[in-house]
Amino acid sequence: MTNNELLDHLNDRPSWDCVACGQPWPCATAQDRLVEEFQAFPSVLTIYMTAQMYDALSDLISQGRIAPADLFERFLAWARRAAVHPDGAERFDLDTISTVEPKRAVTR
Ligand SMILES: [Zn+2]
Repeated sequence: MTNNELLDHLNDRPSWDCVACGQPWPCATAQDRLVEEFQAFPSVLTIYMTAQMYDALSDLISQGRIAPADLFERFLAWARRAAVHPDGAERFDLDTISTVEPKRAVTR
């Protein structure tokens, strides 16, 4: 077993590189583990990754670094794609949810 396999693939602030493999976090292994961890609640994964993206943005800006243009792709795009339930029984795609008509009109 290599050292990389012993370490959890967590982010290292403020660099936001993976502590195990050194790739920009979330690395492929971290993405796989996050999808597995949030499998029952994929929308919570999206919320969690949104918070992580804003923390990373704050850290990068506070170091005087330019925020990477691919932050959305890095932190959220894959999480939204992963929100499709693996067995295909249920779909939690935010793009689909946004087109659903409300079941009841709001009255005042
Ligand atoms: Zn990693």
